[in-house]
Amino acid sequence: MTDSDTRRPATLAAQTLHSIDPATGGVVPVIQPSTTFVRDRDYQPLVDGRIYARDHAPNPEQAEALLTRLEGGTDALLFASGMAAAAAVVQALRPGDHIVAQNVMYWTLRSWMVSFCAEWGIGLDLVDTSQEGAFEEAVQTGKTKLVWIETPANPTWDVIDIAAVAEVAHAAGAQLVVDSTVVTPVLSRPLELGADIVFHSATKYLNGHSDVLAGALVTANEDPLWARIKDNRLNVGGVLGTFEAWLLLRGMRTLYLRVERCCENAMAIARHFDGHAAIEAVLYPGLESHPRHAVARKQMPGGFGGMLSLRIKGGREAALRCTANLNCFQRATSLGGVESLVEHRASVEGPDSPIPDDMLRLSVGVEDVEDLILDLETALA
Ligand SMILES: *Cc1c(COP(=O)(O)O)cnc(C)c1O
Repeated sequence: MTDSDTRRPATLAAQTLHSIDPATGGVVPVIQPSTTFVRDRDYQPLVDGRIYARDHAPNPEQAEALLTRLEGGTDALLFASGMAAAAAVVQALRPGDHIVAQNVMYWTLRSWMVSFCAEWGIGLDLVDTSQEGAFEEAVQTGKTKLVWIETPANPTWDVIDIAAVAEVAHAAGAQLVVDSTVVTPVLSRPLELGADIVFHSATKYLNGHSDVLAGALVTANEDPLWARIKDNRLNVGGVLGTFEAWLLLRGMRTLYLRVERCCENAMAIARHFDGHAAIEAVLYPGLESHPRHAVARKQMPGGFGGMLSLRIKGGREAALRCTANLNCFQRATSLGGVESLVEHRASVEGPDSPIPDDMLRLSVGVEDVEDLILDLETALA
């Protein structure tokens, strides 16, 4: 056993697995952009079985190795975006298979799943997770191959009990995928709770600086489903480029610090505006008043995350007026960066969206929280 086998995740992240460049002694991973790798005179790959970058590229592999350790998995795959990673999982199913997902989840993925499954003969049930027993009712033993959940779910931050859904999925012969984009391995490790695959839009907290698009999957087991997903990435080719992988590695070095600060700031904002005269409701799993606070406390021992939503008194118009008046929060989509963002999801999702139009989603960054609170106070006044 080497030191790096026993070191804790925050240490592994800060030191990118204690990587030292053997050629120079540099403490930062070297960028290796070559797309092709030489063979020896016996026509065998010269180093580590490397032949071509779509299959094995050094920098993406470093980021995959680190993420595998952070999530406690056995293997990881990076993709060119979160959507490419999610699509690789869904496309690993076959016509006649069945998926259970949730009604309120990341909107683009939900929309794509609905149309893809309809066109390719894959059954899809979207459940209302606020109903007890919703997953038990929706799974079809032998037919359901995938249960896909996101917790806390965008943008209402409803919490799902991962261990309970894992049992339901496994009893039906299905695998459980958890979208842990908002949670990160800092706050919770779904594979330890029974999930089979963890999904990340690495565009968000893992990179953390709003300057890389990337997606990631980490698996508990290298089983036949994982082999099909791996085959998809190799042959369909949605790989992450070398420079993006290097930036992602650099972002991950500060993951633990950033997420801790985002949680602290989000909790301070949630507490400040809970019961505020201009606010109908604060949606944040860290508040004791959240309907699934106990589940959140159990499965997110590291904290409750940097995302929350505010329902503004006065409806759509008041919510949009508030966003217009904000100066420190920036009006933009996405989440998980060091800078705070605000979004009116109902405007973005359109008329089919189940999201109330008085709701503003906040991605709370690492700024001084007093500036963020003052900005919201001023915009609501
Ligand atoms: C952003 C996001 C995705 C999609 O990832 P991209 O990197 O934008 O393709 C999926 N799930 C959640 C929760 C996200 O926030």
